[in-house]
Amino acid sequence: MELWYTENQNDDLRFSCRVTRTLHVEKTPFQHLAVLETPCFGRVLVLDGIVQTTVWDEFMYHEMIAHVPLNTHPRPEKVLIIGGGDGGTAREVVRHPKVKSAVMVEIDERVIAVSRQYLPELSQGLDDPKLELRIEDGIEYVTKHPGEYDVILIDSPDPIGPAKGLFGRQFYEGVAAALKEDGLFVAQTESPLFNADLIAEIYRNLREIFPIVRLYLTYVPTYPGGMWSFTLASKKYDPLEVKPEDIPPLSYRYYNAEIHRAAFALPQFLQEILRRA
Ligand code: SAM
Repeated sequence: MELWYTENQNDDLRFSCRVTRTLHVEKTPFQHLAVLETPCFGRVLVLDGIVQTTVWDEFMYHEMIAHVPLNTHPRPEKVLIIGGGDGGTAREVVRHPKVKSAVMVEIDERVIAVSRQYLPELSQGLDDPKLELRIEDGIEYVTKHPGEYDVILIDSPDPIGPAKGLFGRQFYEGVAAALKEDGLFVAQTESPLFNADLIAEIYRNLREIFPIVRLYLTYVPTYPGGMWSFTLASKKYDPLEVKPEDIPPLSYRYYNAEIHRAAFALPQFLQEILRRA
């Protein structure tokens, strides 16, 4: 009998792929957690019925959430990651040569344990000596660490369950306070095609808190619509001023100097969403 995974991306849209094997299913104290083996995407991490990441396309997300902000800051020595339990973002952060230490604050220790077991391609960075893991709510964590970080990365799921507050104005004020006086942060901010109102609200809130706010894009075929946004907010450094020589010669699969620049070129419909924000 054929096994299929089907995700309700919204009330009118479903995404399906064939599953070869269900590797893991559990209900954690925070969410429903599954890892599936699929012929199309390799292993897939699913939380509350929504694809979080796949071994096939994760590099387009993780390289872009990490290297764009890390190369915008001239000294990204102390980094905070909120969420990111699969380890993909941490893997990219710890291999950046200027990063001296990183803290990853994940609310659900089961996501980390299951990713360590089934997703070694992503979770490999979690054992790096530069990284400290903390199991707690990122919303509370930022309020307790004022002025500590050069760069903060918000690698959250969709704004539901424990992640809802990670998209709110109060949290962004906490993030601003947790940054040093020249710090910057990036958050994954969902689909420009399906979440325009949310993107506009985040942009509006951040413009009131930070002098520099810029949206940039990547492509993640297994997320709704494929086109995906990040929002970078900065107290001092502008990602558009990054020069090719500022980018360390690591082995990238998606990111490079041209992509760094091009990711900030926004299609007309998205520029209009931001203009109206
Ligand atoms: N890249 C993924 C995406 O865009 O959908 C998200 C990756 S990662 C799996 C997201 C993690 O954020 C989850 O493991 C979840 O447990 C964690 N998380 C949710 N709310 C959180 C909170 N308030 N504090 C810390 N971590 C949180």
